[in-house]
Amino acid sequence: MMSAQQIFLRDAMRRLNMTRDSFADRIGVRRRALDTWLLPEDSSEFRSMPGIVEKFVDEIVQREAPASGDTQSVHTSLRERIAVEGKPQLLSVDQFSRESLEDLFRIADIMQPIARRQKVSRVLEGAVLGNLFFEASTRTRVSFGAAFCRLGGSVCDTTGFTFSSMAKGESIYDTSRVMSGYVDALVVRHPEQGSVAEFARATNIPVINGGDGPGEHPSQAMLDLYTIQREFSRLGKLVDGAHVAMVGDLRYGRTVHSLIKLLALYRGLKFTLISPVSLEMPAYIIDQVERGGHVVEQSQSLEEGLRGADVVYATRIQKERFANEAIEGYTPEFQVSQALINRVCDAGTIIMHPLPRDSRPGANDLSTDLNHDPRLAIFRQTDNGIPIRMAIFAVLMGVENQVQHAMRDVTWRTPSRIGPDDASFDGLD
Ligand code: ASP
Repeated sequence: MMSAQQIFLRDAMRRLNMTRDSFADRIGVRRRALDTWLLPEDSSEFRSMPGIVEKFVDEIVQREAPASGDTQSVHTSLRERIAVEGKPQLLSVDQFSRESLEDLFRIADIMQPIARRQKVSRVLEGAVLGNLFFEASTRTRVSFGAAFCRLGGSVCDTTGFTFSSMAKGESIYDTSRVMSGYVDALVVRHPEQGSVAEFARATNIPVINGGDGPGEHPSQAMLDLYTIQREFSRLGKLVDGAHVAMVGDLRYGRTVHSLIKLLALYRGLKFTLISPVSLEMPAYIIDQVERGGHVVEQSQSLEEGLRGADVVYATRIQKERFANEAIEGYTPEFQVSQALINRVCDAGTIIMHPLPRDSRPGANDLSTDLNHDPRLAIFRQTDNGIPIRMAIFAVLMGVENQVQHAMRDVTWRTPSRIGPDDASFDGLD
């Protein structure tokens, strides 16, 4: 289980922007000792950190954590800092600074014991979530619903246009206002870019963008970056200076649009964008990233582009967004497979994908032959969707400070590993 000690140490490393090695060095302890303090409490190798070390770490963070550019942060809640026109909503990653993002990650760390089914907390008891999904979804819809339920709330769902009054010509404004009389928060997925913002303008209850056409998918990008940070912590790497390769449909893939902007909040990254010309990342996003001082290279060669990458982020061709255009140039050379990864990547590379991956023959999506490779982080990504989405709800609904006090043990039993192929990292969490 994630203890207060782990949350404290992870937060300190994030704020100081240090790898485990440099942090252990800075506080004068052996890396192995630090690792045992970071282990889950129920691990046989877990050790408590001495009180004097905790005090020392606290002093170092106060003294040395890079000063935040966000001068409001000391006095203002995260909910207020990320608000859109004063309203608690999550529409775009542009609402976040690096600091507010890391504040959210700290809250996600607090949620881990609930997400891992060791604790329950019912801080949202009585609240109702409206999940409005006008486009296909499994992960986003169910994980937002599960996250809300795990905080004690209940969920009402509607899927597709066919079974909603939008099929009768109802406007976004009317739908949003009507739903706001029934529920306490809305998660909306809609095929048109900008449509979720329109839902948000018609209500004062929290609205979360669950994907607006080819626009954005902010919660996915947050869970992706949270996963990258956790994987990097284990591997002794920092997000600053990382090399991230993005592969596939970078034109219509909203997850990469949001993720590259979030990563651009860090320093000195190199991005290699690998896609056929017809599916390149929109120029306005590349400009925004380059203005942040990052290097962006575009390539059509997977072999070249993946060389030296710390993160390989593959995506699905968004066929549903092609009107009458043919999908040109997405040949088998774009497939990320075990043989390719073995040829050009090392043990420290992580392989990600927002899922679903198209496993049908000829799709050339991320290959299933990587399923037993511990570098494949796709299910750690999906698992991280729960603590991140719980943190988003807790912040938007103003209950993040109550969660820890309200936790109690679960009454049922769950397997220690959820999936049969889940990788173990020698006790390193
Ligand atoms: N699930 C992600 C999305 O909704 C990725 C995908 O569909 O390819 O954007």
